[in-house]
Amino acid sequence: MNYSESKEKSAEILRAVIGQMARHDASFNPVTFAVWYEHLAGINPGLSEALNGAIARLGRLGDDSMRQLFDAHVAPPEHQVMNQVAERFQKTMTGMSDSATRTGQDAGKFGEQLSRLAQALESPDVDTLSPHIVQARENASEMRQSAQALERQVAQSRQEIAVLQAELGRVRQEALLCPLTRVLNRRGFDQTLQAILDGGTAPDKTHCLVMLDIDHFKKVNDTHGHVMGDRVIQAMGEVMRACVTGQNGTSLARYGGEEFAVLLPDTPIHVAESVAENIRQKVKALKMRNRQTQEVVLTFTVSAGVTRVAQGDKPDTLIARADSALYQSKQNGRDRVTCA
Ligand code: GH3
Ligand code: MG
Ligand code: MG
Repeated sequence: MNYSESKEKSAEILRAVIGQMARHDASFNPVTFAVWYEHLAGINPGLSEALNGAIARLGRLGDDSMRQLFDAHVAPPEHQVMNQVAERFQKTMTGMSDSATRTGQDAGKFGEQLSRLAQALESPDVDTLSPHIVQARENASEMRQSAQALERQVAQSRQEIAVLQAELGRVRQEALLCPLTRVLNRRGFDQTLQAILDGGTAPDKTHCLVMLDIDHFKKVNDTHGHVMGDRVIQAMGEVMRACVTGQNGTSLARYGGEEFAVLLPDTPIHVAESVAENIRQKVKALKMRNRQTQEVVLTFTVSAGVTRVAQGDKPDTLIARADSALYQSKQNGRDRVTCA
């Protein structure tokens, strides 16, 4: 959830949140706070509906209700999917464990029956044998059915586990993406950069990093509002994507707020520089329009810093160098690319 309430507005909500928290039984923790905040800010209609329903049913809400509301309506979607996957996984394992227990019990009974039959076989009295044989035959048939049921359950569980594994993989991927731009988020960037640095380089190869920052972005928000600000961030992601298609192994990331990064493994610095320059020019040419009237409402520019991995670089030393090149671009008038 992107919170865009001003300091004044959020202070007003905070007061209302404290009032509500005092009226209910749940602890004063961040989970409870987030639930009340999103409800009272009027930014999460699904949550408000569920919360009002819970109050109508239960009167006062405790920690369990708050946790449920948080998991279902406030936590990021990947967190919700993770919970669902974990729940389904648990159900599958419980089903399999119940079947295995039943088969185990049947096997135990069958074992006892077999020992009784063995004892009867040792007895000289042949007449006592017959009922044991009948019983053993019945138990053998039950045992076979039970084993078949277990086999079916195992096959079903195996399928279900494969589905859950695929789902988990998808959620893991999703957790590394920025939902607004669909490029890597900060966590995805950190992982990718670390993997590139760990992979080393061939003696004649180099990896490059471009850091980009939208110029005067605060003014975009202040003049046109946060919704337009978000559209600009989205547009920035699209331009970057268009500029690196065909560049093998290149990764795009939203480093934070209005800052982006391009990771170019095995790429000479002059190529990284021309990718950055291409992004700069395409961004400058972009016209943001009013969706209804199609009137051009704003254009914007971006500054960039380019560097390449040097011997002994760690993520922070590499990023610091790209950042200082970016800072130079800002100092020299913005809307430019600087190499360090
Ligand atoms: P400079 O040219 O020096 O980079 O100036 P700037 O205004 O771009 O930089 P500054 O760091 O002063 O402001 C960045 C603003 O970006 C502040 C913050 O509110 C806004 N911002 C960060 N993330 C988001 C977002 O996801 N959506 C929107 N709409 N605004 C965001
Ligand atoms: Mg910035
Ligand atoms: Mg900026």
